[in-house]
Amino acid sequence: MNNSKNILIVGAGFTGAVIGRELAEQGHQVRIIDSRSHVAGNCYSERDEKTGIMVHTYGPHIFHTDNQVVWEYLNRFTEMMPYVNRVKTTVNGKVFSLPINLHTINQFFETTCSPSEARALIESKSDQNIVDPQTFEEQALRFVGKELYEAFFKGYTVKQWGMSPAQLPASILKRLPVRFNYDDNYFSHKYQGMPKEGYTPIVENILNHPNISVELERAYQEEDSEGIDHLFFTGPIDSWYSYRFGRLGYRTLDFDKFYTEEDFQGTAVMNYGEENIPFTRITDHKYFAPWEKHEGSVCYREFSRTCMPDDTPYYPIRQMGEMELLNKYLSLAEQENSMSFAGRLGTYRYLDMDVTIAEALNMARIYLDSIENGEKMPVFTVNVR
Ligand SMILES: Cc1cc2nc3c(=O)[nH]c(=O)nc-3n(C[C@H](O)[C@H](O)[C@H](O)COP(=O)(O)OP(=O)(O)OC[C@H]3O[C@@H](n4cnc5c(N)ncnc54)[C@H](O)[C@@H]3O)c2cc1C
Repeated sequence: MNNSKNILIVGAGFTGAVIGRELAEQGHQVRIIDSRSHVAGNCYSERDEKTGIMVHTYGPHIFHTDNQVVWEYLNRFTEMMPYVNRVKTTVNGKVFSLPINLHTINQFFETTCSPSEARALIESKSDQNIVDPQTFEEQALRFVGKELYEAFFKGYTVKQWGMSPAQLPASILKRLPVRFNYDDNYFSHKYQGMPKEGYTPIVENILNHPNISVELERAYQEEDSEGIDHLFFTGPIDSWYSYRFGRLGYRTLDFDKFYTEEDFQGTAVMNYGEENIPFTRITDHKYFAPWEKHEGSVCYREFSRTCMPDDTPYYPIRQMGEMELLNKYLSLAEQENSMSFAGRLGTYRYLDMDVTIAEALNMARIYLDSIENGEKMPVFTVNVR
């Protein structure tokens, strides 16, 4: 190909891999670097050495989407197995089903309500005095009332975000978080599943193309940009500018890994809603592969806290202070030429894997069009504000 471009991609997670593959397939030369010792970014999975159980090293990942294009794309690179995420929560010494559904309501209030009776019950519990809810707390109180809010939202949110729901915006809880039937499927997307051999081989397969070279344990250095036509940066946007205005706030996670010889909890994910229990949930990874047989369990107790400079950034906080800081970085970024920011860190947003893949496919297409039409490639191809 005459018009072959030299592309550098920083980050070998789903974003970098998908963009790289799309460009490589069109004849461009793609070099991908990642500071970690493995590909797949935060979706990395590996078999636990002791038990052979597939573990999701950076926290549990369940693939779910309504996007058929993305589902078919993923299925090109892996065999997806049927999997339905069903989450339980322990509160006040009892176990309930999440998201709040008719079973949860009937157990919690010790009732035998039909769907319409449950609707009336929740309506009677909801705080009708709150007309225009401003905070997460007000929104929850208006939707479900004090008892369900305190059992299922309050403590968990305080632990997850390090702040009271009274300090978080109402927009977090957009819709009534209750189902008036016994559907306990955590997600309501058309497609849901688990890759048979974990997520890492998917990314390896996407990267497996003669026009792609991958270098691991290599953090970006200025010299990497020499002679390239375009750079796609999927690392943290504030790191690109050496944190000159300060660091964007993230929550990070600590995982306390433990083994049990017997089945530990009988399910993949058990949340802990009470504030005085320091962890948010325990995941038993063997349940993410129900088609495999393992006697014992390998579990992660998950703790959430403020992300410090040497920690892995997980959840962007995106409160007012962070958005002001982000705007400063965006005004610098918008001046850039021959580079684009992408992915969860490059755009400082929480992105599920399907959205990540869809955005990466879209970014690659926009880049290919920009070459063809001789137009400038945008620095961002989504609204990041
Ligand atoms: C706890 C948790 C659970 C999740 N669960 C789900 C789920 O159940 N379902 C779902 O769909 N999604 C889930 N996600 C979201 C999923 O992890 C993301 O969609 C995905 O990781 C985004 O991929 P990415 O390539 O944009 O970023 P990443 O996976 O973070 O990849 C970015 C890569 O860039 C590298 N990098 C950064 N800076 C540099 C640098 N300067 N030089 C070289 N390399 C660099 C990093 O090492 C990293 O490997 C979850 C996320 C978290 C945090």
